[in-house]
Amino acid sequence: MLLMGFGCKINAQQAFIQGVKGIHPTAPNKIWLSHEHILVDFIGADSIQPDRWNHDSVMKEVMPYLEALKAYNVHYFVDATPNFLGRDVLLLEKIADKTGLNIITNTGLYGARNNKFLPKYVQRISAEELAEKWIGEYENGINNTSIKPGFIKIGIDATDPLDHIQQKLVQAAALTNLRTGLPIASHTGKAAGLWPQLRILKEMGVSASSFIWVHAQEESNHDNYLKAAAEGCWISLDGLGWELDKHVEKIVFAKENGILGQILISHDAGWYDPQKEQQTFKPYTAIFEQLYPALKSKGFTDDDFALLLSVNPSKAFSIPIRP
Ligand SMILES: [Zn+2]
Repeated sequence: MLLMGFGCKINAQQAFIQGVKGIHPTAPNKIWLSHEHILVDFIGADSIQPDRWNHDSVMKEVMPYLEALKAYNVHYFVDATPNFLGRDVLLLEKIADKTGLNIITNTGLYGARNNKFLPKYVQRISAEELAEKWIGEYENGINNTSIKPGFIKIGIDATDPLDHIQQKLVQAAALTNLRTGLPIASHTGKAAGLWPQLRILKEMGVSASSFIWVHAQEESNHDNYLKAAAEGCWISLDGLGWELDKHVEKIVFAKENGILGQILISHDAGWYDPQKEQQTFKPYTAIFEQLYPALKSKGFTDDDFALLLSVNPSKAFSIPIRP
């Protein structure tokens, strides 16, 4: 079987990456930023509307920060803003056209912060019905466009057991993964929220290797990284736009303990905030300007950086071709 996507031919053995502009064969040598934001609007699910921001104003603000990534050969940019928090796929497509970046968007819903960013219908419908909506976005495109999600983004509050609505989100993510192969990135934070999610996935027959533990830097007990790695999930240390030293310590721990092959790094930076008159943007470059020299001084090699920035994310975000 051959799938065509913007000039790429992909054969049946290969997995692929789904960007907003189409599919790409998985390649282990491209630079990734695996968790960033172009726009986030925390106004709440009841009030959010795409007319709260103007594409030209957003682009004017955002473009210099994205142009700065050219110097570092960044190829893939994962936009982790979910639906009802400002996901705007037409904006992402415009930016991809203008910058040449391969931008990846998502389906799913964010339950963290006590379900404030969930639309009301989530309470009424089943996990199966929720999954149908997300699978529909993948199979037919998002909001009457041909733009497809490249992963499932969910969010939970880190408690065990999970809140029942947040359990439903995890179940819907599992069902969507089983049908589409899309990886699941879950805003989780502390490990307390990881274990109940992994239990649900296991019960439903989803491999932990399809799961990205987002904001894992919030966990303070490093033994939990070893435990998570043994379970087989991806561990995303993605707060590098905000602080450096804690991340350096955790990445060094990962290398010393042989789990660097399961670590993702990113900034969680950006973003245009429609609620602000004056934007306060965090750049997406600390990895290249600060983390790189800091790890190099601790003996990190080019192969280590290639794992963190290319090999691992290309595996984590790859979608197996389904018959
Ligand atoms: Zn984020």
